[in-house]
Amino acid sequence: MAKQFDVVVIGAGPGGYIAAIRAAQLGMSVACIDAWSTADGKPAPGGTCTNVGCIPSKALLQSSEHYDQANHHFAEHGIEVKGVGLKLDTLVGRKDSVVKQNNEGILYLFKKNKVTFFHGTGSFAAYVDGGWSIKVAGASEEDLLAKHVIVATGSAPRALPGLPFDEKKILSNDGALSLGAVPKKLGVIGAGVIGLELGSVWRRLGAEVTVLEAMPDFLAVADQQVAKEALKVFTKQGLKISTGVKIGEVKTTAKSVTVPYTDASGAEQSLAVDNLIVSIGRVPHTQGLGVDTVGLKLDERGFVIVDDECKTNLPNVWAVGDVVRGPMLAHKAEEEGVAVAERISGQHSHVNFGTIPSVIYTSPEIAWVGRNEQQLKTEGVAYKAGSFPFLANGRARALGDTTGFVKILADAKTDEVLGVHIIGPMASELISEAVTIMEFRGAAEDIARICHAHPTLSEAMKEAALAVDKRTLNF
Ligand SMILES: Cc1cc2nc3c(=O)[nH]c(=O)nc-3n(C[C@H](O)[C@H](O)[C@H](O)COP(=O)(O)OP(=O)(O)OC[C@H]3O[C@@H](n4cnc5c(N)ncnc54)[C@H](O)[C@@H]3O)c2cc1C
Repeated sequence: MAKQFDVVVIGAGPGGYIAAIRAAQLGMSVACIDAWSTADGKPAPGGTCTNVGCIPSKALLQSSEHYDQANHHFAEHGIEVKGVGLKLDTLVGRKDSVVKQNNEGILYLFKKNKVTFFHGTGSFAAYVDGGWSIKVAGASEEDLLAKHVIVATGSAPRALPGLPFDEKKILSNDGALSLGAVPKKLGVIGAGVIGLELGSVWRRLGAEVTVLEAMPDFLAVADQQVAKEALKVFTKQGLKISTGVKIGEVKTTAKSVTVPYTDASGAEQSLAVDNLIVSIGRVPHTQGLGVDTVGLKLDERGFVIVDDECKTNLPNVWAVGDVVRGPMLAHKAEEEGVAVAERISGQHSHVNFGTIPSVIYTSPEIAWVGRNEQQLKTEGVAYKAGSFPFLANGRARALGDTTGFVKILADAKTDEVLGVHIIGPMASELISEAVTIMEFRGAAEDIARICHAHPTLSEAMKEAALAVDKRTLNF
């Protein structure tokens, strides 16, 4: 007999596992199915984010930053270190144990919230008696019956046409997080968030890294003043970045990878590397879900079609996270997961797409929320801008990390904050204040009048707000 649930969630990435927990908190009986396994076949809930995304990349960024600091920056503090060595297996092993802690944490949370977990692939079988029959295949073999289904099956890396990932020479994010040796030369195709973060990790560990980007502008999604500063800093750090390139046919041998490309000036070039990371975006993942069996509608790019409330074309079937439109970010997936669980329970929840922050965890970090100058100009919005450099911030000087600035864009008439753009130390943490202010539709004046602890990096936010009104105190 099929096991019955109010809600069955397919996928335990940040969209799915958070939706499952929230639905359980609201008193519903909930099952969550996830197919991800560890190398020895154990369940590894947490999705891309936990296993091969946000968490392991940040663990490697942290370790490689320590290594870089020890090699290049401790001396400024009068700390002498001799013979700094690298044990890559320990570094990667630490990353793996951070991932494991997160996998186990999610299993613990399922238990705590009485979410029933099934390890296997979930697929739609049929619509029966007002509910959905869902099959679980794999480590668990079950038939489930669900009043509501939340599809949270995530995304997979996009390969270059004709160049499948072998995870040895041609790497997706997965292989790039687990290399057994630091490559002498590493190529990265795609200067997006993932390419820049993973390129930074291996550069800090000693690889000569070349990043090839097809778009003419570097970091076209970011505010162009931030992007310009980032390009300058990353280049100084040793990342070789070429934009406006056209990649030719990549050739792989047992020893190396050759990437022929046309550069922005039209000249033919060739890049020979030990390994190549291909980070040209991600595609929605719906294989094995039984989309055709029940007629779940996908768009031409394979995303599950949803409305503003994450409802699909099927009754009581919802979809959240990377598998639907919108930015492919863990926190966006989580917000949608919570909102859907609450909508199922009858609440009117809302996800504000205008205040979803974006972060790049390079050094310096880059973070923004809201609209940038290019967008405001295109939209014809009259705005005022205020910037403050970390060079003039006492805490940044004490840290020895004065790169970058905070820039606040506010409505010319009402002073409402329309966008905040940061490049600099701990930008990922600083952006929260901007998100909060924008959620409350606050003004630059509001940030300027809030007391910020001294000495903190957050004072740069206050000063940038003061700069909107041309009255910085420390610059
Ligand atoms: C290298 C890298 C770094 C990143 N860093 C960040 C970051 O710093 N911050 C950030 O916000 N985002 C980051 N992301 C993006 C983030 O990982 C995704 O946006 C997020 O994981 C999406 O969550 P999701 O729940 O939609 O899907 P996923 O995390 O992809 O989870 C989907 C889950 O569903 C399972 N599944 C799929 N089909 C089935 C099925 N039929 N049955 C059972 N299970 C199934 C999968 O196995 C997987 O476990 C990063 C991504 C990468 C690749």
